[in-house]
Amino acid sequence: MGTQTVVKPKPKLQPLDKSGQADLIILGGGPAGLAAAIYALRARLNVLLVEKMILGGQASTTFQIENYPGFPEGLSGMELATRLQDQVKKLDLAIKWGNAVAIAKKNRHYEIVVDGKLLTAPAIIAATGTAAAKLDVPGEAELLGRGVSYCATCDGPFYKEKNIMVVGGGNSAVEEAIFLTRFASQVMVVHRRDTLRADKILAERAAHNPKIFFYWHSVVKAISGQNKVEAVTLEDLANKNRLTVPVDGIFVYVGSRPNSGLLNNLVKLDKQGFIMTDEAMRTSSPGVFAAGDIRVKTLRQIVTAAADGAIAAESARKYLEELPDGRVDNKK
Ligand code: NAP
Repeated sequence: MGTQTVVKPKPKLQPLDKSGQADLIILGGGPAGLAAAIYALRARLNVLLVEKMILGGQASTTFQIENYPGFPEGLSGMELATRLQDQVKKLDLAIKWGNAVAIAKKNRHYEIVVDGKLLTAPAIIAATGTAAAKLDVPGEAELLGRGVSYCATCDGPFYKEKNIMVVGGGNSAVEEAIFLTRFASQVMVVHRRDTLRADKILAERAAHNPKIFFYWHSVVKAISGQNKVEAVTLEDLANKNRLTVPVDGIFVYVGSRPNSGLLNNLVKLDKQGFIMTDEAMRTSSPGVFAAGDIRVKTLRQIVTAAADGAIAAESARKYLEELPDGRVDNKK
């Protein structure tokens, strides 16, 4: 048996102290942010993750995830979130719960204000994902929470034996329409074209579901009701005919908007506001990396979010190691 070389882990240069300093601040606790945290903590970086709500991100509200490799039977979004939480807990991830309201660059450091507390780090990974896009039609805002919803997993069980409308033709709309058939008597999917954008396997499943039917090339013009949703007015884009359909609830899945407002003066964004990165997840601002749905990319999935997070953490590690005077700028 040969001798074993014991490699001592690099000491942490600055433990997270009361001043809120870290090597790396990760914004967002979805699959991208948590994967980044796992990789960065294993590289012995001093990591602080900022999250305003729950760990697991949007994925945690998905009823069933069927395309994450290694889970042939699928797993629920909540289960994936719980597993991720257990994994970062094992690595002692420091979490600052709260809303990041401002980010600014000061020398080589980034300063982030989270609920009145100042956090600083020479490197940031932005993994704040996206928020549901709105229809922007009369009644949508007024009846929010009273029949208008953006989360089938959260609100679906309230619609037992009811008639529901789902708007959109992407993976979210079709997946959630199928989920809602567990409760509802019928689920009407309204899509502005006559072909679904969703994956074929989901489209086939929806087409064969006896509770689902489609309003093709149609858009929502208004949502109405006294104290709760009672009807939706649709317009047929082919002939401009309008139709008022009685419904008990409407679930909107018409895409997503990036949560990138905080960074728009710091990094380059595309026209829709997604963060532009290179393959190493570097943004236009040195020390700022982006991962997951918030960045410009061709496939927004949990598996690609996790991959982005791993790459971003590795890039941040290299960036920090190459800083001339170590990870934390002591000249502040
Ligand atoms: P999406 O793929 O962008 O689809 C949005 C849908 O809404 C499209 O069908 C679009 O129509 C329609 N739409 C957009 N604006 C509209 C408007 N103003 N009025 C009516 N309809 C409108 O969004 P998503 O389904 O939320 O998915 C977001 C990302 O997450 C995608 O990359 C998706 O693949 C991913 N995702 C994946 C899974 C999965 O793999 N199981 C599950 C959920 C989400 P057009 O088709 O005509 O553009």
